[in-house]
Order: sequence, then C-alpha cells, then structure tokens
Amino acid sequence: MLRGLCLRATVTAARSGAGIPLAQRVGAGIPLAQRAGAGVPLTQRAGAGVPLTQRAGAGIASNQRAWARISPGGRPGLRSLCSAGGSCWRCGAPPPEPPGFFCASCRALQPPDRRCDYFQLLGLPRRFRVSAEELGRCQRRLQRELHPDRFSRSAEAERRFSEQQSALVNEAYGTLLRPLSRGFYLLRLELPAEAEPEEGGSLPPDAEPAFLATVLRLNERLEEADSPEEMGRVAAEVEARLRELSEEVARAFEQRRPRDARPLLRQMRFWSSLGERVKERQLPR
Ligand code: ZN
Repeated sequence: MLRGLCLRATVTAARSGAGIPLAQRVGAGIPLAQRAGAGVPLTQRAGAGVPLTQRAGAGIASNQRAWARISPGGRPGLRSLCSAGGSCWRCGAPPPEPPGFFCASCRALQPPDRRCDYFQLLGLPRRFRVSAEELGRCQRRLQRELHPDRFSRSAEAERRFSEQQSALVNEAYGTLLRPLSRGFYLLRLELPAEAEPEEGGSLPPDAEPAFLATVLRLNERLEEADSPEEMGRVAAEVEARLRELSEEVARAFEQRRPRDARPLLRQMRFWSSLGERVKERQLPR
C-alpha cells in the first residue's frame, strides 16, 4: 500500500513537474536502499535488502572493503591497486607478474597483488561482455588453487594469504557476475577520476521523458496487476528492457564511450530494482 501511495505521489509530482529534480521524482517510488545515494560516501550507503552484487557500485565498495580487510587503512585506487610488488616473502625472488599467485622460484603463495583489478585477478579480458560460464570456470579454478583447505598445513603467512586471496576471488566473481555491478565497476576502471561522485546523480536530460514515461507506465501496471499472467508480462518487459540496456552498455564500452555507459547503467539500476519488486510480488502469499 505504501508503495502505491509513493507511486501516486511520484506520478503527481512528475505530471505537475513541480520543480522537483527528476532524480528525486523517479526515486520517489524506489525503496530507499536502492535509490541513488548522491552525496553519501559509497561505502556508507544503505543497502539492506538488496543483494550485495546488485547494489549500485557494489563492486567498488566491496573491493575497497576487501582491501581494507587485507591492509587496514589502505584505500587503493582501482587502476593501480598498487604496491604488493615486493619480493617473495619466503625466498626473496622477484614477485610474479600480475596476476601471479605463486612465487615462480619457490612456489609459495603470495599476498594479493594490489596492482590487479578484478578482471586481471580472474584472468579475464577487461570488458563488459562476460560469459557467466567462463567467469564461473575461472572462479572455480582459482578457488581450487587458493582455497584455505589446501594450506591447512602451511606456514601461518601462507594460510593467511590463502584466506585473503580466496576472499578476493569471491568478491571479484560476485562483482563481475551481475551486469549492473560489473558495469559500474568497469566504469570506475575506465573513468577513475569521475565515476564515483556522480554515480548517484540524475538521469541525462535527453533520456528523461521517454524513460520516465515507461517507468510510470510499468509502475502503474505493476501496482494494478491482479493476475499471475499480468505480473508475468510486466516481468518479461522488465527483463527485455534490461537485456536491451545491457547490450547498449556493452556497445558503449566497446566503442570507447564509457561516459555514455553511465546514464544507461543508472537506468539499469532502476529496472533492476523494479525487477526485484516484481519478483517480490510474484512470490506466493
Ligand atoms: Zn619464493
């Protein structure tokens, strides 16, 4: 009921124009946790109820959390996660080339290499199009090599590194698996200086009317849907829009237009949250 009220408020505000910034109008019907978090540091935004990997910027925040766990006080940039780079902790040999996990000389497991981004870590090319099967294969292969169970009899340092490496691989996998978190992560890599502050910003002016109209129409259909068939149709429409957006995002990155990906990703974030609401409504009561 509350959502219905919010929606009607959204519709009214949007129709009257009312001098309300579009981002706020559109956001009015979205649960707080999923709204754009402009002005709030990324890592402090509320995300309760939203699967971690689907949260806006989840990759970046979790990446930083992962690194914070590994090196307290460190807040690395993404392009250069920087500095592992020292010699092998056991034999002093030069460090393996990223994303090498083991010393080439003595085979000791090394601490996470902070020069690696998530794509390098998993051994994947840095691009938006990622096959879930390939991603899964990379993650499983690395987890077999790095899993703490394999190091239960190893030196304390190596056990610790295996926990860190293993956790990092899971973070990377979770971030790159979902198109939304993968897209925002890639955006951060491509535009390290400007992505984060704007991630929660408003929609692009030229996309406003069509996007808003579709949003309002689907919101109304969702609120009024009274049969599983109608809910299914709304769900299919949301899925189709997400697929289209995903394709557009992929093209923007491939054609070296990362800035064009940002408004598309914001739209994806909205459709994702609407998709979640559809799923909630589809659950048997
Ligand atoms: Zn070594």
